[in-house]
Amino acid sequence: MLHTDDGHAVTQSHTTNIHGILRVLSGSTPEGAILSHKAVPAYVWAGQAEFTVVSPKTGARYTYQVRAPRRSKDGTQRFTREQSVDSPLRFVHVVDDGAHFLGTCYLQDGPDGGTQVRRYVHSQERSRLPADDEAVKVAQWMLENLHRLPLGLEVWHLGRCARCGRKLSVPESLTSGIGPDCAEQMQKRTV
Ligand SMILES: [Zn+2]
Repeated sequence: MLHTDDGHAVTQSHTTNIHGILRVLSGSTPEGAILSHKAVPAYVWAGQAEFTVVSPKTGARYTYQVRAPRRSKDGTQRFTREQSVDSPLRFVHVVDDGAHFLGTCYLQDGPDGGTQVRRYVHSQERSRLPADDEAVKVAQWMLENLHRLPLGLEVWHLGRCARCGRKLSVPESLTSGIGPDCAEQMQKRTV
C-alpha cells in the first residue's frame, strides 16, 4: 500500500479503503486525515482524542475515544481543561453505534519527556466487551505501543482537535490533529 509516515499520503487506495467509515478529505471542508506516526502519542493523550485505526493486514478498523476525566473522582468537582488534561487517567471507549467504555489508561512521564501509558486496565464490570475481544486487544496493544507503531498502520483523526474537540480548520493542524491554540498550550507546558 502506498503510505508514507508524514501523513500526506491520502491516496485513492486510502479513500477507498476507508469509505463508509470516515468522512475523508473532501473539497474545502476537510474532516478527517491520517496522522503521522510521530504525531500519534501527543494526539492520543491530549484529552479529547477520537481516532480510527486501520490494520494494514486485514483492513479491520476500529474507532476509539481516549478521554481525560472531566470531574474529580468523587464527582463533586468539575475540572477545568488544564486540570482535566493534567489527570493521569484516560478513559478508553470503542465507538460503533455509540461510545462504549472499555477501560482506563494510567499515564506517566516517558523517558523522552513525552507521556506514555503505564498500563491499560480493562473494566470487567463496565465494559460490554470481554478483555479478549479483538476491539479491546487492538486498543490495548496500540495504546501500549504508541511509540513503535508498525509501518502501514493507519491512524485517522476525525477532524476535531484532540485537546478541545473543536473542528480543525487550519491545514497545518490536520497532520497533528491538534489546533493551533491547543498546540501552543501544549508546547508551553512541556517547556
Ligand atoms: Zn484545540
